[in-house]
Amino acid sequence: MVELLLVLLLAVTAAAVALAILRRVAGPARGRGARVLRVGLVGAVCLASVSYACFLISRARGMMVMGDIVARAQTTDSVVALTFDDGPTPEYTDSILDLLRRERVRATFFVVGGSLAQHPELGRRIVEAGHVLGNHTWSHPRMVGLPLAEVRRQVDDTDRLIRLAGQRGPIYFRAPYSHKFVLLPWHLHRTGRTNVSWDVEPETYETSADAIVRHTMERVRPGSIILLHPWFHSRDATRQALPRLIHALRAEGYELVTVPELLSREGVRSEPVSENTGSHADVRPA
Ligand SMILES: [Zn+2]
Repeated sequence: MVELLLVLLLAVTAAAVALAILRRVAGPARGRGARVLRVGLVGAVCLASVSYACFLISRARGMMVMGDIVARAQTTDSVVALTFDDGPTPEYTDSILDLLRRERVRATFFVVGGSLAQHPELGRRIVEAGHVLGNHTWSHPRMVGLPLAEVRRQVDDTDRLIRLAGQRGPIYFRAPYSHKFVLLPWHLHRTGRTNVSWDVEPETYETSADAIVRHTMERVRPGSIILLHPWFHSRDATRQALPRLIHALRAEGYELVTVPELLSREGVRSEPVSENTGSHADVRPA
């Protein structure tokens, strides 16, 4: 809601500034035609400002027009969360789980419902190994401009499979590409879900394992949420970086925890969401 107030404030400010500039440049409006033209120009400036602000908010890691979004836990404890997006895939799930077991690390896996439907046993294995499953939609679309029924289907159908995999407690949600505007935040807010984004995303900027480790260690802070995609063939560098990253984080004194544990450190309320039903099929992980 604070974001909506900021947008309104921006619109009023833009209108006032545009009006003041027009008065200074063109003087007082004389006649009905001039006044109509001036109102039109001020309206256009307002509209452009609001549209741009909405565009930025729809892509922001730590802002939504309503409801809870978290990019980093507000804590001074040396805790961070590793999060793995877009799986599960049969090629790499076991090797990722083996590594995490060897290193005694628990992580959070934001899975795509369509992939989970194809490989439900992978979801069960992840939960049985003590990790947390999060909801990353059914087919990984950009969740802006979709009708509400599709928003509900993307979120609720994936929740249903996550429950079937054995996940207890709250199901956290992560919007693909962190894109969201009104309907998705409204649905998340209405159903008591938190949208968990991230504040460290080394793969966006780096391609080698060395650079992924370096980038992460330069930016990580207490409460950080680290985004990685180790599930796919093209992510060799991420898989190579992962054990080194775990060692480097521990050497700096960081404890690696799941997202629910991380958020509990800042006192964010975690409420279980209701179990949902439904079905859907279409997979496009990215
Ligand atoms: Zn994704």
